[in-house]
Amino acid sequence: MVFRSARAQPAAAAAEYEELARWVPADRLILDPSELRVYECDGLPLHKEPPGAVVLCASREEVIGVVRWCHERRIPFVPRGAGTGLSGGATPVPRGVVIDLNRMRRILKVDVENRYAVVEPGTINMRVTQAVEAQGYHYAPDPSSQKACTIAGNVAENSGGPHCLKYGMTTDHVLGIEVVLPDGEVARLGGPLAEPPGYDLVGLFVGTEGTFGVVTEVTVRLTPSPQSVRTYLAVFDDMSLACRTVAEITRQGILPAALEILDRLTIQAVEASVFRAGYPQDAAAVLLVELDGFEAGMDEDEEKIRRIALENRAIELKAARDAAQRMQLWKGRKGAFGAMGRINTDLYVLDGVVPRTRLEETLNEVYGIARKHRVTVSNVFHAGDGNLHPNISYDGRDPEETARVLAAGREILEACVRAGGSISGEHGIGVEKVDFMPLLFGPDDIQLQKDLRLAVDPLELSNPGKIFPDSRSCIEVGKRRWKEIPL
Ligand SMILES: Cc1cc2nc3c(=O)[nH]c(=O)nc-3n(C[C@H](O)[C@H](O)[C@H](O)COP(=O)(O)OP(=O)(O)OC[C@H]3O[C@@H](n4cnc5c(N)ncnc54)[C@H](O)[C@@H]3O)c2cc1C
Repeated sequence: MVFRSARAQPAAAAAEYEELARWVPADRLILDPSELRVYECDGLPLHKEPPGAVVLCASREEVIGVVRWCHERRIPFVPRGAGTGLSGGATPVPRGVVIDLNRMRRILKVDVENRYAVVEPGTINMRVTQAVEAQGYHYAPDPSSQKACTIAGNVAENSGGPHCLKYGMTTDHVLGIEVVLPDGEVARLGGPLAEPPGYDLVGLFVGTEGTFGVVTEVTVRLTPSPQSVRTYLAVFDDMSLACRTVAEITRQGILPAALEILDRLTIQAVEASVFRAGYPQDAAAVLLVELDGFEAGMDEDEEKIRRIALENRAIELKAARDAAQRMQLWKGRKGAFGAMGRINTDLYVLDGVVPRTRLEETLNEVYGIARKHRVTVSNVFHAGDGNLHPNISYDGRDPEETARVLAAGREILEACVRAGGSISGEHGIGVEKVDFMPLLFGPDDIQLQKDLRLAVDPLELSNPGKIFPDSRSCIEVGKRRWKEIPL
Protein backbone atom coordinates (compact mmCIF):
# COMPACT_ATOMS: atom_id res chain seq x y z
CA MET A 1 0.00 0.00 0.00
CA VAL A 2 1.23 3.51 -0.71
CA PHE A 3 0.27 6.93 0.63
CA ARG A 4 -1.35 8.77 -2.26
CA SER A 5 -2.56 12.31 -2.60
CA ALA A 6 -6.19 12.77 -1.55
CA ARG A 7 -6.57 14.99 -4.58
CA ALA A 8 -5.57 12.15 -6.91
CA GLN A 9 -8.44 9.84 -5.96
CA PRO A 10 -11.15 11.85 -4.24
CA ALA A 11 -14.12 9.66 -5.25
CA ALA A 12 -12.63 6.30 -4.26
CA ALA A 13 -11.28 7.70 -1.02
CA ALA A 14 -14.58 9.33 -0.04
CA ALA A 15 -16.47 6.05 -0.44
CA GLU A 16 -13.95 4.25 1.77
CA TYR A 17 -14.16 6.94 4.44
CA GLU A 18 -17.95 6.68 4.56
CA GLU A 19 -17.44 3.46 6.53
CA LEU A 20 -16.40 5.74 9.38
CA ALA A 21 -20.05 6.63 9.80
CA ARG A 22 -20.30 3.35 11.74
CA TRP A 23 -18.84 5.20 14.74
CA VAL A 24 -19.66 8.82 14.11
CA PRO A 25 -22.87 10.52 12.97
CA ALA A 26 -22.67 11.77 9.39
CA ASP A 27 -22.79 15.41 10.53
CA ARG A 28 -19.45 14.91 12.28
CA LEU A 29 -17.72 13.28 9.33
CA ILE A 30 -16.27 15.74 6.82
CA LEU A 31 -15.61 14.44 3.30
CA ASP A 32 -16.52 17.43 1.15
CA PRO A 33 -13.30 18.67 -0.55
CA SER A 34 -14.10 22.34 0.03
CA GLU A 35 -14.76 21.73 3.76
CA LEU A 36 -11.61 19.59 4.04
CA ARG A 37 -9.55 22.60 3.00
CA VAL A 38 -10.38 24.24 6.33
CA TYR A 39 -8.07 21.63 7.89
CA GLU A 40 -5.22 21.84 5.35
CA CYS A 41 -2.84 23.61 7.76
CA ASP A 42 -2.44 24.83 11.33
CA GLY A 43 -0.80 28.11 12.36
CA LEU A 44 2.07 27.43 9.94
CA PRO A 45 0.76 28.42 6.51
CA LEU A 46 4.02 27.35 4.79
CA HIS A 47 2.72 23.76 4.62
CA LYS A 48 -0.72 22.86 3.31
CA GLU A 49 -2.25 19.48 2.53
CA PRO A 50 -5.97 18.64 2.50
CA PRO A 51 -6.80 15.47 4.48
CA GLY A 52 -8.78 12.51 3.14
CA ALA A 53 -11.38 12.86 5.89
CA VAL A 54 -11.98 14.72 9.15
CA VAL A 55 -13.80 13.08 12.04
CA LEU A 56 -15.12 15.36 14.78
CA CYS A 57 -14.94 12.84 17.63
CA ALA A 58 -17.19 13.40 20.63
CA SER A 59 -16.15 10.50 22.87
CA ARG A 60 -13.30 8.18 23.72
CA GLU A 61 -15.22 5.30 22.11
CA GLU A 62 -15.41 7.19 18.82
CA VAL A 63 -11.67 7.84 18.95
CA ILE A 64 -11.02 4.13 19.56
CA GLY A 65 -13.30 3.17 16.66
CA VAL A 66 -11.60 5.55 14.21
CA VAL A 67 -8.06 4.60 15.29
CA ARG A 68 -8.85 0.86 14.99
CA TRP A 69 -10.36 1.44 11.56
CA CYS A 70 -7.22 3.31 10.46
CA HIS A 71 -5.00 0.59 11.92
CA GLU A 72 -6.82 -2.22 10.10
CA ARG A 73 -6.54 -0.40 6.77
CA ARG A 74 -3.04 1.04 7.36
CA ILE A 75 -4.38 4.57 6.94
CA PRO A 76 -2.42 7.31 8.72
CA PHE A 77 -4.21 9.67 11.10
CA VAL A 78 -3.43 13.07 12.63
CA PRO A 79 -4.82 14.17 16.02
CA ARG A 80 -5.90 17.80 16.01
CA GLY A 81 -6.89 20.24 18.74
CA ALA A 82 -7.50 23.92 17.98
CA GLY A 83 -4.99 24.01 15.11
CA THR A 84 -3.02 26.89 16.68
CA GLY A 85 0.27 24.96 16.43
CA LEU A 86 3.05 26.92 14.76
CA SER A 87 5.26 24.09 13.45
CA GLY A 88 2.81 22.15 11.27
CA GLY A 89 2.21 19.39 13.85
CA ALA A 90 -1.43 19.12 12.83
CA THR A 91 -0.74 19.41 9.07
CA PRO A 92 -2.66 16.52 7.47
CA VAL A 93 -1.04 13.53 5.82
CA PRO A 94 -2.20 12.88 2.23
CA ARG A 95 -5.17 10.49 2.30
CA GLY A 96 -4.97 10.48 6.08
CA VAL A 97 -7.74 11.01 8.59
CA VAL A 98 -7.75 14.06 10.86
CA ILE A 99 -9.11 13.17 14.31
CA ASP A 100 -10.50 16.44 15.65
CA LEU A 101 -10.89 16.51 19.47
CA ASN A 102 -12.64 19.85 19.90
CA ARG A 103 -15.99 18.26 20.78
CA MET A 104 -14.39 16.59 23.82
CA ARG A 105 -14.08 19.61 26.08
CA ARG A 106 -15.62 18.69 29.43
CA ILE A 107 -13.90 19.29 32.74
CA LEU A 108 -14.54 15.90 34.31
CA LYS A 109 -13.31 16.48 37.85
CA VAL A 110 -11.85 19.23 40.03
CA ASP A 111 -10.17 18.29 43.32
CA VAL A 112 -8.59 21.39 44.84
CA GLU A 113 -7.76 19.63 48.12
CA ASN A 114 -5.48 17.31 46.18
CA ARG A 115 -4.64 20.00 43.62
CA TYR A 116 -5.62 18.35 40.35
CA ALA A 117 -8.27 18.43 37.64
CA VAL A 118 -9.21 15.82 35.05
CA VAL A 119 -10.17 17.22 31.65
CA GLU A 120 -11.06 16.01 28.18
CA PRO A 121 -8.44 16.61 25.45
CA GLY A 122 -10.24 19.44 23.67
CA THR A 123 -10.64 21.55 26.83
CA ILE A 124 -9.39 25.05 26.11
CA ASN A 125 -6.39 25.94 28.26
CA MET A 126 -7.92 29.06 29.83
CA ARG A 127 -11.12 27.21 30.83
CA VAL A 128 -9.15 25.18 33.37
CA THR A 129 -8.08 28.31 35.23
CA GLN A 130 -11.57 29.81 34.91
CA ALA A 131 -13.01 26.65 36.52
CA VAL A 132 -10.82 26.88 39.63
CA GLU A 133 -9.83 30.53 40.12
CA ALA A 134 -12.70 31.25 42.53
CA GLN A 135 -11.16 28.61 44.80
CA GLY A 136 -7.75 30.31 44.68
CA TYR A 137 -6.07 28.05 42.09
CA HIS A 138 -4.98 28.20 38.46
CA TYR A 139 -3.43 26.10 35.72
CA ALA A 140 0.05 27.58 35.36
CA PRO A 141 1.21 26.99 31.73
CA ASP A 142 -0.25 29.93 29.82
CA PRO A 143 0.58 29.97 26.09
CA SER A 144 -0.33 33.31 24.54
CA SER A 145 -2.90 31.29 22.57
CA GLN A 146 -4.55 30.13 25.81
CA LYS A 147 -7.98 31.47 24.83
CA ALA A 148 -8.03 28.98 21.93
CA CYS A 149 -5.49 26.15 22.28
CA THR A 150 -6.42 22.81 23.84
CA ILE A 151 -4.88 20.96 26.77
CA ALA A 152 -4.04 17.90 24.62
CA GLY A 153 -2.39 20.17 22.03
CA ASN A 154 -0.33 21.63 24.91
CA VAL A 155 0.59 18.10 26.06
CA ALA A 156 1.61 17.08 22.53
CA GLU A 157 3.82 20.17 22.09
CA ASN A 158 4.98 20.49 25.71
CA SER A 159 3.87 24.08 25.41
CA GLY A 160 5.24 27.01 27.34
CA GLY A 161 4.05 30.54 27.91
CA PRO A 162 5.08 33.82 29.55
CA HIS A 163 4.79 32.43 33.09
CA CYS A 164 6.71 29.21 32.37
CA LEU A 165 9.91 31.08 33.34
CA LYS A 166 8.96 30.56 36.98
CA TYR A 167 6.42 27.74 36.85
CA GLY A 168 7.87 25.35 34.24
CA MET A 169 6.49 23.94 31.01
CA THR A 170 3.44 21.74 30.42
CA THR A 171 5.41 18.62 31.33
CA ASP A 172 5.73 19.94 34.89
CA HIS A 173 1.95 20.20 35.20
CA VAL A 174 0.69 16.94 33.67
CA LEU A 175 0.13 14.18 36.22
CA GLY A 176 -1.59 11.58 34.10
CA ILE A 177 -2.98 10.90 30.64
CA GLU A 178 -5.26 8.44 28.95
CA VAL A 179 -4.21 7.66 25.39
CA VAL A 180 -5.61 5.61 22.54
CA LEU A 181 -2.46 3.97 21.19
CA PRO A 182 -1.95 3.70 17.40
CA ASP A 183 -3.44 0.16 17.32
CA GLY A 184 -6.58 1.22 19.21
CA GLU A 185 -5.54 -0.08 22.65
CA VAL A 186 -6.22 2.28 25.56
CA ALA A 187 -3.44 3.05 28.05
CA ARG A 188 -3.64 5.06 31.26
CA LEU A 189 -0.31 6.58 32.24
CA GLY A 190 0.43 8.21 35.60
CA GLY A 191 -2.30 9.41 37.90
CA PRO A 192 -3.29 12.25 40.19
CA LEU A 193 -1.97 11.27 43.56
CA ALA A 194 1.29 9.40 43.60
CA GLU A 195 4.36 9.15 41.44
CA PRO A 196 4.04 5.57 40.16
CA PRO A 197 7.14 3.38 40.27
CA GLY A 198 8.86 2.42 37.03
CA TYR A 199 9.52 4.54 33.98
CA ASP A 200 8.08 8.06 33.78
CA LEU A 201 5.79 7.26 30.85
CA VAL A 202 3.84 10.51 31.20
CA GLY A 203 7.10 12.43 30.85
CA LEU A 204 7.98 10.31 27.83
CA PHE A 205 4.63 11.00 26.16
CA VAL A 206 4.57 14.78 26.68
CA GLY A 207 6.06 16.52 23.65
CA THR A 208 5.63 13.63 21.21
CA GLU A 209 3.54 15.81 18.87
CA GLY A 210 0.78 13.30 18.21
CA THR A 211 3.17 10.51 17.14
CA PHE A 212 2.33 8.22 20.10
CA GLY A 213 -1.46 8.07 19.63
CA VAL A 214 -4.46 10.18 20.61
CA VAL A 215 -4.80 11.68 24.09
CA THR A 216 -8.36 11.30 25.35
CA GLU A 217 -8.03 12.55 28.94
CA VAL A 218 -5.50 14.62 30.88
CA THR A 219 -4.98 15.00 34.63
CA VAL A 220 -3.41 18.39 35.27
CA ARG A 221 -1.78 19.89 38.34
CA LEU A 222 -3.53 22.89 39.92
CA THR A 223 -1.31 25.61 41.36
CA PRO A 224 -2.32 27.95 44.20
CA SER A 225 -2.74 31.50 42.90
CA PRO A 226 -0.15 33.93 44.25
CA GLN A 227 -0.97 36.21 47.17
CA SER A 228 0.35 39.22 45.30
CA VAL A 229 1.15 40.16 41.68
CA ARG A 230 3.04 43.23 40.48
CA THR A 231 3.54 44.07 36.80
CA TYR A 232 5.93 46.65 35.33
CA LEU A 233 6.67 48.04 31.89
CA ALA A 234 10.24 49.21 31.22
CA VAL A 235 10.75 51.23 28.05
CA PHE A 236 14.08 51.36 26.16
CA ASP A 237 15.37 53.22 23.12
CA ASP A 238 17.84 50.42 22.42
CA MET A 239 16.97 46.69 22.25
CA SER A 240 20.43 45.71 23.53
CA LEU A 241 19.76 47.53 26.81
CA ALA A 242 16.47 45.67 27.29
CA CYS A 243 18.31 42.35 26.79
CA ARG A 244 21.04 43.34 29.27
CA THR A 245 18.37 44.22 31.84
CA VAL A 246 16.91 40.70 31.54
CA ALA A 247 20.32 39.04 31.97
CA GLU A 248 21.11 41.22 34.98
CA ILE A 249 17.77 40.60 36.73
CA THR A 250 18.31 36.85 36.65
CA ARG A 251 22.04 37.18 37.44
CA GLN A 252 21.08 38.94 40.67
CA GLY A 253 19.02 35.91 41.71
CA ILE A 254 15.57 37.39 41.16
CA LEU A 255 13.09 34.97 39.59
CA PRO A 256 10.20 36.98 38.14
CA ALA A 257 7.05 35.18 37.01
CA ALA A 258 7.58 36.61 33.52
CA LEU A 259 10.14 38.61 31.53
CA GLU A 260 8.86 39.41 28.03
CA ILE A 261 10.23 41.76 25.35
CA LEU A 262 8.51 43.33 22.31
CA ASP A 263 10.48 45.21 19.65
CA ARG A 264 9.53 48.38 17.80
CA LEU A 265 7.72 46.80 14.84
CA THR A 266 5.74 44.55 17.18
CA ILE A 267 4.81 47.53 19.39
CA GLN A 268 3.60 49.46 16.34
CA ALA A 269 1.52 46.50 15.07
CA VAL A 270 -0.01 45.98 18.53
CA GLU A 271 -0.81 49.67 19.01
CA ALA A 272 -2.54 49.83 15.62
CA SER A 273 -4.70 46.80 16.48
CA VAL A 274 -7.52 45.84 18.82
CA PHE A 275 -4.85 44.58 21.23
CA ARG A 276 -3.68 48.17 21.92
CA ALA A 277 -1.96 48.26 25.32
CA GLY A 278 -0.59 51.80 25.55
CA TYR A 279 3.03 50.89 24.73
CA PRO A 280 5.02 53.96 23.53
CA GLN A 281 5.28 53.65 19.75
CA ASP A 282 8.65 55.36 19.43
CA ALA A 283 10.37 52.90 21.80
CA ALA A 284 12.92 50.42 20.43
CA ALA A 285 11.79 47.82 22.97
CA VAL A 286 9.48 47.35 25.93
CA LEU A 287 10.15 44.85 28.69
CA LEU A 288 7.26 43.40 30.71
CA VAL A 289 8.31 42.25 34.16
CA GLU A 290 5.93 40.43 36.48
CA LEU A 291 6.67 39.51 40.08
CA ASP A 292 4.37 37.21 42.00
CA GLY A 293 4.30 35.33 45.28
CA PHE A 294 4.15 36.44 48.90
CA GLU A 295 3.90 40.17 49.57
CA ALA A 296 6.86 39.86 51.96
CA GLY A 297 10.09 40.52 50.08
CA MET A 298 8.42 41.97 47.01
CA ASP A 299 9.38 45.59 47.79
CA GLU A 300 13.04 44.55 47.81
CA ASP A 301 12.76 42.77 44.44
CA GLU A 302 10.88 45.72 42.99
CA GLU A 303 13.61 48.10 44.13
CA LYS A 304 16.35 45.91 42.65
CA ILE A 305 14.54 45.69 39.31
CA ARG A 306 14.04 49.47 39.25
CA ARG A 307 17.76 49.99 39.88
CA ILE A 308 18.83 47.46 37.21
CA ALA A 309 16.49 48.99 34.62
CA LEU A 310 17.76 52.52 35.34
CA GLU A 311 21.40 51.38 35.23
CA ASN A 312 20.59 50.04 31.76
CA ARG A 313 19.16 53.42 30.76
CA ALA A 314 15.45 52.56 30.75
CA ILE A 315 13.75 55.76 29.62
CA GLU A 316 10.56 54.97 31.51
CA LEU A 317 9.48 52.45 34.13
CA LYS A 318 5.86 52.24 35.10
CA ALA A 319 3.95 49.88 37.37
CA ALA A 320 0.41 48.64 36.76
CA ARG A 321 -1.70 50.19 39.53
CA ASP A 322 -4.46 47.57 39.53
CA ALA A 323 -5.69 44.38 37.88
CA ALA A 324 -7.25 46.31 34.98
CA GLN A 325 -3.94 47.99 34.11
CA ARG A 326 -2.12 44.68 34.42
CA MET A 327 -4.56 43.02 32.02
CA GLN A 328 -4.09 45.93 29.62
CA LEU A 329 -0.31 45.48 29.58
CA TRP A 330 -0.70 41.73 28.98
CA LYS A 331 -3.32 42.23 26.28
CA GLY A 332 -0.68 43.72 23.99
CA ARG A 333 1.81 40.91 24.61
CA LYS A 334 -0.72 38.09 24.26
CA GLY A 335 -2.28 39.61 21.15
CA ALA A 336 1.03 40.36 19.44
CA PHE A 337 0.99 37.48 16.90
CA GLY A 338 -2.60 38.34 15.99
CA ALA A 339 -1.68 42.00 15.56
CA MET A 340 0.97 41.00 13.01
CA GLY A 341 -1.85 40.13 10.64
CA ARG A 342 -1.78 43.88 9.95
CA ILE A 343 1.74 43.70 8.50
CA ASN A 344 1.18 41.15 5.71
CA THR A 345 -1.00 38.21 4.65
CA ASP A 346 1.18 35.41 6.13
CA LEU A 347 3.30 35.02 9.24
CA TYR A 348 6.15 32.60 9.93
CA VAL A 349 6.77 32.44 13.69
CA LEU A 350 10.23 31.09 14.54
CA ASP A 351 11.02 29.55 17.90
CA GLY A 352 14.77 29.51 18.60
CA VAL A 353 16.38 29.38 22.01
CA VAL A 354 19.67 30.90 23.17
CA PRO A 355 21.30 31.41 26.57
CA ARG A 356 19.93 34.64 28.10
CA THR A 357 23.39 36.15 28.02
CA ARG A 358 23.50 35.76 24.21
CA LEU A 359 20.12 37.36 23.50
CA GLU A 360 21.63 40.69 22.48
CA GLU A 361 24.13 39.35 19.94
CA THR A 362 21.68 36.79 18.51
CA LEU A 363 19.02 39.44 18.00
CA ASN A 364 21.57 41.57 16.15
CA GLU A 365 22.25 38.57 13.93
CA VAL A 366 18.50 38.06 13.39
CA TYR A 367 18.06 41.66 12.19
CA GLY A 368 21.15 41.25 9.94
CA ILE A 369 19.80 38.03 8.39
CA ALA A 370 16.45 39.74 7.77
CA ARG A 371 18.22 42.60 5.97
CA LYS A 372 20.30 40.18 3.91
CA HIS A 373 17.22 38.27 2.70
CA ARG A 374 15.04 41.39 2.43
CA VAL A 375 12.33 40.05 4.75
CA THR A 376 10.31 41.88 7.40
CA VAL A 377 11.08 40.58 10.87
CA SER A 378 9.57 41.59 14.20
CA ASN A 379 10.45 40.13 17.58
CA VAL A 380 8.31 39.36 20.60
CA PHE A 381 9.76 36.82 22.97
CA HIS A 382 10.05 35.04 26.29
CA ALA A 383 13.27 36.87 27.16
CA GLY A 384 13.66 35.28 30.59
CA ASP A 385 13.84 31.83 28.97
CA GLY A 386 16.08 33.00 26.10
CA ASN A 387 13.22 31.85 23.84
CA LEU A 388 13.22 34.06 20.74
CA HIS A 389 10.26 34.41 18.38
CA PRO A 390 11.52 36.20 15.27
CA ASN A 391 8.34 36.65 13.20
CA ILE A 392 8.63 37.01 9.46
CA SER A 393 5.66 38.70 7.81
CA TYR A 394 5.33 37.90 4.10
CA ASP A 395 3.00 37.29 1.21
CA GLY A 396 2.69 33.51 0.81
CA ARG A 397 1.30 33.93 -2.70
CA ASP A 398 4.74 35.09 -3.87
CA PRO A 399 7.01 32.01 -4.32
CA GLU A 400 10.17 34.10 -4.60
CA GLU A 401 9.47 35.94 -1.35
CA THR A 402 8.51 32.63 0.32
CA ALA A 403 11.89 31.15 -0.70
CA ARG A 404 13.66 34.11 0.92
CA VAL A 405 11.58 33.65 4.08
CA LEU A 406 12.60 29.99 4.32
CA ALA A 407 16.28 30.80 3.75
CA ALA A 408 16.18 33.49 6.44
CA GLY A 409 14.36 31.14 8.85
CA ARG A 410 16.99 28.47 8.45
CA GLU A 411 19.84 30.95 9.00
CA ILE A 412 18.18 32.30 12.14
CA LEU A 413 17.84 28.83 13.67
CA GLU A 414 21.45 28.03 12.72
CA ALA A 415 22.50 31.21 14.54
CA CYS A 416 20.59 30.06 17.65
CA VAL A 417 22.35 26.68 17.60
CA ARG A 418 25.75 28.37 17.12
CA ALA A 419 25.01 30.48 20.20
CA GLY A 420 24.60 27.31 22.25
CA GLY A 421 20.82 27.12 21.95
CA SER A 422 18.15 25.07 20.25
CA ILE A 423 15.78 25.06 17.26
CA SER A 424 12.63 24.96 19.39
CA GLY A 425 11.69 26.31 22.78
CA GLU A 426 8.00 25.43 22.83
CA HIS A 427 6.41 25.14 19.37
CA GLY A 428 7.75 21.69 18.54
CA ILE A 429 9.38 20.37 15.38
CA GLY A 430 6.29 19.37 13.35
CA VAL A 431 6.96 19.40 9.61
CA GLU A 432 8.60 22.81 9.85
CA LYS A 433 11.91 21.76 11.37
CA VAL A 434 12.38 18.09 10.40
CA ASP A 435 15.36 19.06 8.26
CA PHE A 436 16.91 21.05 11.11
CA MET A 437 17.07 18.16 13.59
CA PRO A 438 20.59 17.20 12.37
CA LEU A 439 21.74 20.66 13.56
CA LEU A 440 21.26 19.31 17.09
CA PHE A 441 21.40 15.51 16.85
CA GLY A 442 23.74 13.02 15.22
CA PRO A 443 22.35 10.06 13.22
CA ASP A 444 22.56 7.74 16.26
CA ASP A 445 20.63 10.17 18.48
CA ILE A 446 17.91 10.54 15.85
CA GLN A 447 17.74 6.78 15.30
CA LEU A 448 17.36 6.17 19.04
CA GLN A 449 14.39 8.53 19.16
CA LYS A 450 12.86 6.96 16.04
CA ASP A 451 13.27 3.49 17.57
CA LEU A 452 11.35 4.69 20.60
CA ARG A 453 8.56 5.92 18.37
CA LEU A 454 8.53 2.59 16.47
CA ALA A 455 8.16 0.72 19.76
CA VAL A 456 4.86 2.56 20.30
CA ASP A 457 3.76 2.86 16.67
CA PRO A 458 5.50 0.21 14.52
CA LEU A 459 3.41 1.06 11.44
CA GLU A 460 4.01 4.82 11.83
CA LEU A 461 0.32 5.57 11.45
CA SER A 462 0.05 8.24 14.15
CA ASN A 463 1.01 11.59 12.65
CA PRO A 464 3.72 10.29 10.28
CA GLY A 465 6.22 12.63 8.69
CA LYS A 466 6.60 14.82 11.79
CA ILE A 467 9.67 15.50 13.96
CA PHE A 468 12.23 13.27 12.20
CA PRO A 469 14.00 13.64 8.88
CA ASP A 470 13.58 10.64 6.55
CA SER A 471 10.34 9.53 8.20
CA ARG A 472 8.29 7.05 6.21
CA SER A 473 6.30 9.85 4.62
CA CYS A 474 8.00 13.22 4.44
CA ILE A 475 6.95 16.53 3.06
CA GLU A 476 9.06 18.76 0.84
CA VAL A 477 8.76 22.42 1.67
CA GLY A 478 7.00 24.44 -0.99
CA LYS A 479 6.40 21.54 -3.40
CA ARG A 480 3.88 19.79 -1.15
CA ARG A 481 5.15 16.40 -2.25
CA TRP A 482 5.15 13.43 0.08
CA LYS A 483 7.59 10.61 -0.40
CA GLU A 484 5.64 7.51 -1.41
CA ILE A 485 7.08 4.41 0.17
CA PRO A 486 5.24 1.07 0.13
CA LEU A 487 4.26 -0.26 3.54
C1 LIG B 1 -1.30 33.53 18.67
C2 LIG B 1 -0.52 32.31 19.11
C3 LIG B 1 0.23 32.38 20.27
C4 LIG B 1 0.93 31.24 20.72
N1 LIG B 1 1.66 31.33 21.87
C5 LIG B 1 2.29 30.23 22.33
C6 LIG B 1 3.04 30.29 23.55
O1 LIG B 1 3.12 31.33 24.22
N2 LIG B 1 3.66 29.16 23.96
C7 LIG B 1 3.58 27.99 23.24
O2 LIG B 1 4.17 26.99 23.66
N3 LIG B 1 2.89 27.91 22.09
C8 LIG B 1 2.24 28.98 21.62
N4 LIG B 1 1.53 28.91 20.45
C9 LIG B 1 1.50 27.64 19.70
C10 LIG B 1 0.27 26.74 19.99
O3 LIG B 1 -0.81 27.49 20.51
C11 LIG B 1 0.63 25.60 20.95
O4 LIG B 1 1.56 24.73 20.33
C12 LIG B 1 -0.59 24.78 21.39
O5 LIG B 1 -0.21 23.85 22.38
C13 LIG B 1 -1.27 24.02 20.28
O6 LIG B 1 -2.51 23.56 20.77
P1 LIG B 1 -3.69 23.19 19.76
O7 LIG B 1 -4.84 22.69 20.55
O8 LIG B 1 -3.97 24.30 18.84
O9 LIG B 1 -3.03 21.96 18.97
P2 LIG B 1 -2.94 21.68 17.41
O10 LIG B 1 -2.28 22.80 16.71
O11 LIG B 1 -4.26 21.26 16.91
O12 LIG B 1 -1.96 20.42 17.42
C14 LIG B 1 -0.64 20.57 17.88
C15 LIG B 1 0.00 19.17 17.97
O13 LIG B 1 -0.68 18.43 18.97
C16 LIG B 1 -1.14 17.19 18.45
N5 LIG B 1 -2.39 16.91 19.15
C17 LIG B 1 -3.48 17.71 19.27
N6 LIG B 1 -4.42 17.09 20.00
C18 LIG B 1 -3.92 15.88 20.33
C19 LIG B 1 -4.42 14.75 21.05
N7 LIG B 1 -5.65 14.74 21.60
N8 LIG B 1 -3.64 13.66 21.19
C20 LIG B 1 -2.40 13.63 20.66
N9 LIG B 1 -1.87 14.65 19.96
C21 LIG B 1 -2.63 15.76 19.80
C22 LIG B 1 -1.29 17.43 16.96
O14 LIG B 1 -1.20 16.23 16.22
C23 LIG B 1 -0.11 18.35 16.69
O15 LIG B 1 1.06 17.61 16.52
C24 LIG B 1 0.86 30.04 19.97
C25 LIG B 1 0.08 29.98 18.80
C26 LIG B 1 -0.60 31.10 18.37
C27 LIG B 1 -1.43 31.00 17.12
